[in-house]
Parts: sequence; C-alpha cells; structure tokens
Amino acid sequence: MKSSEWIWKDGHWVRWDDATVHISAHALHYGSSVFEGIRAYDTPRGPQIFRLGDHMRRFRDSAKLMRMELGHSAEDLEGVCCELVERNRHRACYLRPVALRGTGGLGVDGRHLPVTTAIFSMEWGAYLGDEALENGVDAAVSSWRRFGAGTMAPLGKIGGQYVNNQFVSAEAHINGYEEGIVLDAQGFVSEGGGENLFLVREGRILTPALSSSILAGITRHTVLQLARDRGIEVQETVISRDLLYLADEVFMTGTAAEITPVRSIDRMPIGAGHRGPVTETLQSDFFALVNGAAPDRHGWMTPAIRAELRAAS
Ligand code: PMP
Repeated sequence: MKSSEWIWKDGHWVRWDDATVHISAHALHYGSSVFEGIRAYDTPRGPQIFRLGDHMRRFRDSAKLMRMELGHSAEDLEGVCCELVERNRHRACYLRPVALRGTGGLGVDGRHLPVTTAIFSMEWGAYLGDEALENGVDAAVSSWRRFGAGTMAPLGKIGGQYVNNQFVSAEAHINGYEEGIVLDAQGFVSEGGGENLFLVREGRILTPALSSSILAGITRHTVLQLARDRGIEVQETVISRDLLYLADEVFMTGTAAEITPVRSIDRMPIGAGHRGPVTETLQSDFFALVNGAAPDRHGWMTPAIRAELRAAS
C-alpha cells in the first residue's frame, strides 16, 4: 500500500501515521463500519473525481442501515475528498471514506458508541492487474454463497459483510484464479468477490438484478448507461450458473476493478477465450469518459482542484 501524506479524520487533517483507532474499537470486533471506494482520474483539466455524489449517497445509505450518525453532511465530505486530492498532490488516486463505531463498550449493540469518520487516499493501479484489463482474468464459481436478503444488507457497503467477500476471493486465489464468482442463496449468479458481473449473449447485455443480493455498484450503473447510450440492449435479471459458461463475453465492474474481462470460468473458456468486442467497446467508452477524452454527458466528473487554484499553480 502506497501511503500518502494527509488523512482527514473527524474534522481534522492528520498525518498518515497518526490516523489510528484503539484496539477496543467496536468495529474491529463486530464489523460495525461502513466505507466507500472512489477513484479520481488524471484528466487534461486536472484530477477529477468520478461519481462523487453517488458514492457519498451510498456512504450515507450504508450508515443509515447501521443506524450510524455521520455528523458531517454529504457536501462537507465531498469537499474533503477534493481537498484530499489537492493536499496529497495526487494526479489520480483511490479515495476511501470510512466510518466506524469506536471505543466505550463491547456490547453487540454499539449504537451509543462514538462514530469516527475518516477519508484517506492512495495511489492504486488496476485492481486485478494492468494486464487483466486487456487479457482478462480466470475466475471460478465459489463454493461459498452470497448472504441472502434478510440475513445481511447487500445494498450497504458494511465492513462486517466483507467477511463473505474475503471467503470468496481468498478461495479463488488459493485455487489459482484471479477472482471468485459468488452465487446467491437460491443458486443464481450474484457477483464477483468485489465486483459486479455482466455477460453478453447474442449482442445483449445481461447482469444480475438487485434481487440477487448484489451491491448496487456505481460502475455497474455507469456501464448500463454507457451501453444504453450506444443502443445496446441491457437487461437486469435472474441469471443461472449455466448461462455464465455459455456467454459470448463476461466482464466484471467495480471502482477498483473498473471494467475487467473474464476469459474463463472454472477453466471453461468464455466465448473465444479472450476479451470480446462488446467488453472492449464499453472499456474504451468508460476510459475515454474518466480520462477526460470524451465529453461528460451525464455530469459524473467533479474537478478535485478548483479552477482558480489550478490557474495559480
Ligand atoms: N460488489 C462488491 C461486493 C463490491 O465491494 C464492489 C466495490 N465497491 C462492487 C460490487 C462494485 O461497486 P462499485 O462499482 O460501486 O465500486
């Protein structure tokens, strides 16, 4: 992990090494934290943060599910993200807002405990590797199931829930795959270990619906919109495991993973066994947008550094 200089914690700017929590913090014991993952991209108009408002909305939604008061408005936290990019002099980075229940008691219901809110940033390349964006990854269907609706809260990005994701990703890595694919409690396709999943069949794009216990990914939403913009038919639906193997193309989406092709699942080649044309088209539309080469038609990019500061530097 490449550290950066400044971290924002509970309204103060502190050095990376000073942004600590106590060993008795509730979140460490019971997973009572919520978080986000956001990317800022290097564009000709300076660093810009992708879908900042949508990420902050989900951050607040996750906190609400945990009955957690953040004590800072969405606008304030958005401003902090921009300032973080500026202070740490990033051209591009990954931003990690986190809120967690702190110290003061070990009862399971930690609602009375103080909440620490922090945002840190770091430079982070392609999550599944640079080479993966072009050549694709080998994935496997996990022996673990995604938690079902009513067991946990799939729409929330809640720390404790990621034990499930750790089971899925670790199992895949141990077995020699780059990522795992998890089925929902009914046995339908849910998502990747830290990504949403898409397949292409006969020119149509299919992705599991929210009812398959997925996280409502912001990259997923972006890809659905970019596909519609190109007139490609998209469907959010129930997807059976066998359809995955029969797809012409499969790809994964996420803030960290961006759009990563899947070239095989359980050692079965997907389509031609390498990145397909629909995946490549969507990748090029996505990267043109976030890198500032294409117009921001949907208002998804937020300049991290105000124009007057850029002009002065
Ligand atoms: N599913 C899970 C479990 C994730 O952790 C992520 C990453 N946040 C995603 C999907 C993709 O979501 P997004 O595109 O908003 O990053």
